[in-house]
Amino acid sequence: MSLVFSRPNTKAVHGKKDKRLMAEVNASPLKHFVTAKKKINGIFEQLGAYIKESASFLEDTYKNDELDPVTTEEHVQEVQGYLTKVSGIGEVLSRRHMKVVFFGRTSNGKSSVINAMLCDKVLPSGIGHTTNCFLRVEGTDGNEAFILTEGSEEKKSIKTVNQLAHALHQDEDLDAGSLVCVMWPKAKCALLRDDLVLVDSPGIDVTTELDSWIDKFCLDADVFVLVANSESTLMQTEKSFFHKVNERLSSPNIFILNNRWDASASEPEYMEEVRRQHMDRCTNFLVDELAVVDRNQASDRIFFVSAKEVLQARVQKAQGMPEAGGALAEGFQARLFEFQNFERRFEECISQSAVKTKFEQHTVRAKQISEALRHIMDSVHIAAQEQRVYCFETKEDRQDRLEFIDKQLDLLSMDCKTKIKKITEEVEKQVSNAMAEEIRKLHVLVDDFHVDFHPSSVVLKVYKNALHQHIEEGLGKNMSERCSTSITSALQATQTDMIDGLKPLLPSPLREQVDKLVPRQCFSLSYDLACDKLCSDFQEDISFHFSLGWTMLVNRFLGPKNTRRALMGNNDQVPRPMALTPVSTSMPPFPQSAMTQEELMVSMVTGLASLTSRTSMGVLVVGGVIWKAVGWRLIALSVGLYGLLYIYERLTWTTRAKERAFKRQFVEYASEKLQLIVSYTGSNCSHQVQQELAGVFAQLCQQVDVTRQNLEDEITDMNKKIELLDSLQSKAKLLRNKAGWLDSELNMFTQQYLHHSK
Ligand code: GDP
Repeated sequence: MSLVFSRPNTKAVHGKKDKRLMAEVNASPLKHFVTAKKKINGIFEQLGAYIKESASFLEDTYKNDELDPVTTEEHVQEVQGYLTKVSGIGEVLSRRHMKVVFFGRTSNGKSSVINAMLCDKVLPSGIGHTTNCFLRVEGTDGNEAFILTEGSEEKKSIKTVNQLAHALHQDEDLDAGSLVCVMWPKAKCALLRDDLVLVDSPGIDVTTELDSWIDKFCLDADVFVLVANSESTLMQTEKSFFHKVNERLSSPNIFILNNRWDASASEPEYMEEVRRQHMDRCTNFLVDELAVVDRNQASDRIFFVSAKEVLQARVQKAQGMPEAGGALAEGFQARLFEFQNFERRFEECISQSAVKTKFEQHTVRAKQISEALRHIMDSVHIAAQEQRVYCFETKEDRQDRLEFIDKQLDLLSMDCKTKIKKITEEVEKQVSNAMAEEIRKLHVLVDDFHVDFHPSSVVLKVYKNALHQHIEEGLGKNMSERCSTSITSALQATQTDMIDGLKPLLPSPLREQVDKLVPRQCFSLSYDLACDKLCSDFQEDISFHFSLGWTMLVNRFLGPKNTRRALMGNNDQVPRPMALTPVSTSMPPFPQSAMTQEELMVSMVTGLASLTSRTSMGVLVVGGVIWKAVGWRLIALSVGLYGLLYIYERLTWTTRAKERAFKRQFVEYASEKLQLIVSYTGSNCSHQVQQELAGVFAQLCQQVDVTRQNLEDEITDMNKKIELLDSLQSKAKLLRNKAGWLDSELNMFTQQYLHHSK
């Protein structure tokens, strides 16, 4: 795991920085606060930016519809809440400063101490406390000093301390206990540059409102300085004020300055004694009464100084004059040194205390926030990881299924092809056989046809059409009776096989519906014999032919073809074309039951005629020979018989006989024609079956294709999700690491500024 933030502050840089910090700390202990403030502000800035980044990341993630939620609305709101909180804290932190409040009776020299510390006559002194206001001295970036009074935005410019005194004196709006800010250019004073705010109070002897003062000005004070007068003892008013402070604040930092110590120089013989007495009393006050400091540390809190001397010396030094010049009492150097010592202790104390009180709480809060964010990012990371694993598994599963489907589909396609081939062959065979059989029985069908027959061409035309239709329907019906059941069941079996084969390739909800998805209409074979077209050329011959007539005789001897040729060649007068149908005199085998009496008669006569006609040529040949022997009577008898036969045949050539002849001719003609289309019909039917099965298979494949497409879509979707989750995860990881880094920064800050403070 790599740290996400680049950390340029390597050891060397650290070393340099630390040295620089040390140098700054050596220069002024206040720098401790300044650098800590800078550092914590920097951390909060980064924390703010980090939370902003996290908030927008979480928001985007939460709003992302493409993924299952990896974060919650609570998380988003929680992080947004942190954003406001942290920016609020950051703002507070940037305004943080160290605050020292000076208390003491009027004319003890509070203003003088502040001026001495600021090395300049900032506050008016020596004229008694001019007002009952609190004076707060604060640094300003500008070059001009000005004052701000409470409840007014107006910046009143002050050029000299007298002007300030005058202004305070003049301002009638200033209530007792109100605050006046003296904004002093930072450029003029190092203390103000280091974020120190000094507050001068009205003498505690002039007010009874100590409680409200504490609430208003002291709750955020880091250090209290009691400016006492070394020429007198600590007064009860001074003591009771600090008791109150001690009640309100836990262990306040209190310094006691015994001011006007220069006065002791006038009585050197009592100096040590007086100092010891003051020291004892002050120590007792701090250690025993207030219990704010240990006895061995009390000497670091109690000092004997002369603010007036220090101020004078520092002002002179600033003006380029020797600091010890002028009328200074004896022991000035020691008092100056003690004042400097006080300043150092005070600065150490205030900076360390302020860092702790002003930054510790926020550091802890920042740590909590970064910890919370780290957890949130962790949870996002984990949720994304879980989802990613799920996506991977789903993707693999879909890929496996896709592969399975492809393989199975190949196998099934081959299997189906074979099955279809087999069934179509069977159908072809079956249909051909059935048709052959039906052709053999065609005469039954034709005999079943009963429509009024008449030899006139108009009636014949109608008769033929009706016959064609009858044949078409009859044949179709018979064929389907013969084949349909077996073909349909074979077809259905194959279809069921196909469906059963392909079902496992479909997703389970589709499996139940597959019968609906692949609609199987009631399949019926269409034989499509087109009898009318097939037999359109049929030409019947129903004109009367005498069985001993010339044509018939020739026909008998030469066969129908030769007769036609002979007749057409020799006798152009033959008026009508011969029937294309071979005209046969042999009787078709009628079923016995179908014969009527008349039909029997006709058949007998025709048989006799046939018998007669077979011998008639022989009679003719031998006629001449017999002629001489038998004589004319016999000839006359023969002619008579011939005539009688002719009359008989002529009389029996009725419409019914014509219809029979017509039907016979038609059966022969149609049988021959139908024979021609047997194989065609077989293959036509098998083609239909093949079409039907191929159609069902195609529909099934289409369903499988839809499934395949769905799987492919799912895989693409998963890939997209995985990609998204990858980037989401790495971002969450990055943010988690950032939180970790911020946490370590905060730890370093705690280590450096808070733990080592005291
Ligand atoms: P405040 O009322 O407490 O602010 O006291 P000031 O600073 O105004 O001082 C009152 C008077 O005491 C002024 O005249 C100062 O010059 C004088 N004074 C302040 N400090 C000292 C000191 O250390 N020694 C002597 N001798 N006089 C001082």
